[in-house]
Amino acid sequence: MNDVLSNVFIYTDPERCMGCHSCELACATAHSTYDLHSAVLNGITLLSRNKVVKVADVTTTSQCVQCKAPCLDACPFDVITREAIGAIKIDETNCTGCKLCSKACPYDCITMMPLPLELQAIPGSKKKKKFVALKCDLCFDLRGEDGTINSACIQACPTKAITLTRDPALRTKNLTLTGYLA
Ligand code: SF4
Ligand code: SF4
Repeated sequence: MNDVLSNVFIYTDPERCMGCHSCELACATAHSTYDLHSAVLNGITLLSRNKVVKVADVTTTSQCVQCKAPCLDACPFDVITREAIGAIKIDETNCTGCKLCSKACPYDCITMMPLPLELQAIPGSKKKKKFVALKCDLCFDLRGEDGTINSACIQACPTKAITLTRDPALRTKNLTLTGYLA
């Protein structure tokens, strides 16, 4: 069986999503050391790894669908890996910011975040790291002790529109709705 089919991914039901953007905010703060208040006070830009999109008369979210991962194949530094549960993960610490993964993703799911000057130095190198690649990681690092994935967007959604699923039909449904599949 094509292992992509059984990869776990985030799906947002357009019938339940009301486009409130709570999931974006939860994603951005879950991946930052700043909460919303302190980020505003310190002039920090919080970036979410999901996007709320309006298509026709409905809203849903767009984020990594944990696919066959051409992004993984494109990374020349081997910092993108496939985890045991089938999730594709970027090692952001060792990402060099070369952008090749974002060019390889057919669904525009990787955001290249500009780094402030003070974070651009690479120890032992004259080169600078100006960007880091970000994408939905299912909040993989926030797993409970029993391995449960507690994705921040799922917890934040007031209408319970977001779920973790392995249903390939829902992946196809989302990519069709967001215009990536005919
Ligand atoms: S931007 Fe980072 S993750 Fe993407 S291909 Fe380059 S090194 Fe790999
Ligand atoms: S970032 Fe894009 S190419 Fe990589 S696994 Fe996600 S959807 Fe696939």
